[in-house]
Amino acid sequence: MEVVKKTDAIRDIVTGLKKGGGTIGFVPTMGYLHKGHTSLMKQAKRECGRVIVSIFINPIQFGQDEDFERYPRDFESDHNLSKQAGVDYVFYPDREEMYGKNFETFVEVRKLSRIMCGKARPGHFKGVCTVVLKLFSIINPDKAYFGEKDYQQLVIIKKMTEDLNLPVKIVGCPIIRGNDGLALSSRNKYLSKEERENAIILYQSLKFAEELINKGEREVKKIKNIAIEKLMANPAITAIDYFDFRDPLTLEDFKELGKIGSDKKLKKVLIATAVWIGKTRLIDNIVVDYG
Ligand code: AMP
Repeated sequence: MEVVKKTDAIRDIVTGLKKGGGTIGFVPTMGYLHKGHTSLMKQAKRECGRVIVSIFINPIQFGQDEDFERYPRDFESDHNLSKQAGVDYVFYPDREEMYGKNFETFVEVRKLSRIMCGKARPGHFKGVCTVVLKLFSIINPDKAYFGEKDYQQLVIIKKMTEDLNLPVKIVGCPIIRGNDGLALSSRNKYLSKEERENAIILYQSLKFAEELINKGEREVKKIKNIAIEKLMANPAITAIDYFDFRDPLTLEDFKELGKIGSDKKLKKVLIATAVWIGKTRLIDNIVVDYG
């Protein structure tokens, strides 16, 4: 496995690989890798000739008061995990390499970026789309892998790819969870022992909502109120940004299950939530089949 820091160098490598007829799978990350990330890498390895992973903590997707400075970093561990997962190249640019002095161009998928996480984090998805488009343009992958952990991000990247006719297939990959159900996340490192124990309430609240649906409840407001009550009863939860029921394809708001949806035969609902545990903001989601 080779670590490449310069844009020109990775471009040359990709050109060489493509001449040989190989397909390229790409996994963009911000590092501090865990099994969620490596599951994406392994899937890319199964489906593509060569796998390139980028590790770049993208400053423009963090708000002013967010955790850019303290975002966890551990390149040695990232290197080992990438290597073990079968990655061929790690693209590891610095800030200067990605955003020169007079960087001026941004990409935004407008409506989708202003709901859910976009409401609480204005500009976040604009930063994500801009960096992902830059990375696509540098690496020119055949397939790019994104986790369903960041479900809204996945939908937005798919939309950007479609709207801009980008020649890359976006592949969504399932959420990897710890044994107790907590979705793996680099930000889990911020949690104290007690907060970590309480954090399982996120997944529990989603599963609880699923249970109500399975029992026949169809009124979203009712399910939402009960789930929020359950979340707020946990002493570790300091705030809830949202607990939403949405169309898994379009993120359209669901008021009542079974009434609307991009595909009436699809009968699936995305339940997604973002909550604060102390000073840490965590997100999670599940897709429930109610057909
Ligand atoms: P990040 O480093 O947080 O930007 O994440 C890089 C990629 O890994 C994104 O596509 C995430 O959705 C994905 N990812 C992060 N955590 C998980 C997880 N627990 N399961 C599956 N994918 C994940």
